Amino acid sequence: MMQPLAQLHKQLELNLDESLERETGFRFKAHTDFIERIEPGNPDDPLLKQILPIKEELRPHPDFKLDPVGDLNANPTPSLIHKYHGRLLLMASPKCDIHCRYCFRRHFPYGEQINQRHWETALQQIADDNTIHEVILSGGDPFSLAENAMVTLIEKIERIAHVRTLRIHTRTPIVAPSKAPRGKLLEWAENSRLQKVMVVHCNHPNELSDKTAELMSVYRLAGFHLLNQSVLLKGVNDCSETLAELSHKLFSQGILPYYLHQLDRVQGAAHFEVDDATAQTLKKTLMESLPGYLVPKLVREIAGQPHKTPL
Ligand code: SF4
Repeated sequence: MMQPLAQLHKQLELNLDESLERETGFRFKAHTDFIERIEPGNPDDPLLKQILPIKEELRPHPDFKLDPVGDLNANPTPSLIHKYHGRLLLMASPKCDIHCRYCFRRHFPYGEQINQRHWETALQQIADDNTIHEVILSGGDPFSLAENAMVTLIEKIERIAHVRTLRIHTRTPIVAPSKAPRGKLLEWAENSRLQKVMVVHCNHPNELSDKTAELMSVYRLAGFHLLNQSVLLKGVNDCSETLAELSHKLFSQGILPYYLHQLDRVQGAAHFEVDDATAQTLKKTLMESLPGYLVPKLVREIAGQPHKTPL
């Protein structure tokens, strides 16, 4: 269940400034599954910091932009983003089950981009380009779509013979596991010819729970390869012990750490930025303390580059 900001205020015994939700222009949104993982009375809780509108978001910064990774320059048709060779991204939904304050698409014009009537054009473009072997469902969050509509879309992708892999980028299984799809999606996955990859998004070990563990085992059994991407966030996970614990906990739930992203420089998120020198020191400490398969790749997305840039 989604919870309004006013209720969070009472439940977490915090003195919150509710007017900032309106002033920032980016609505507060979180599911009770996520909120119950926050420590009451702790204004520095690492999960709370990811969702709470604060006045720092209103401070302008010349290097923080509306479209920091150049999505709109790689947008051949509404709903499609094509940046890298062999794969492209289909935006399946304008909604998410959480509003992350650092989101690189917090200013994205979803209204102009995502409409089911655009999908047919997008699917035709994929069918016409036999260099595309992987389709990535993104958004927003594809799991915020009605499950029937999402599976219908996936089945259309599967009918394109040169597509071999379906990848789903989703934060729902982490932030709202009790509402993540388990019906038709699993039925489809168990019988599909496609390779299936699910990249979840988890930034802090406290986001993982018994609920996420149970859900991940269900997805794994249905044939999904499970990976995680995190964003390096000041005051949330910029600590080597936290990141090491995150890797161990992800692995215990069957998920491999994939990327640790340097923050995309989106307007309103400058207070989350960790400098590159600190990020590299964190990476080195992780390499010294974890087996290689638990060290995520530290990367930055640079608009116009043909791949993510390692740091
Ligand atoms: S779930 Fe992803 S797309 Fe949605 S608000 Fe968070 S970072 Fe942005």
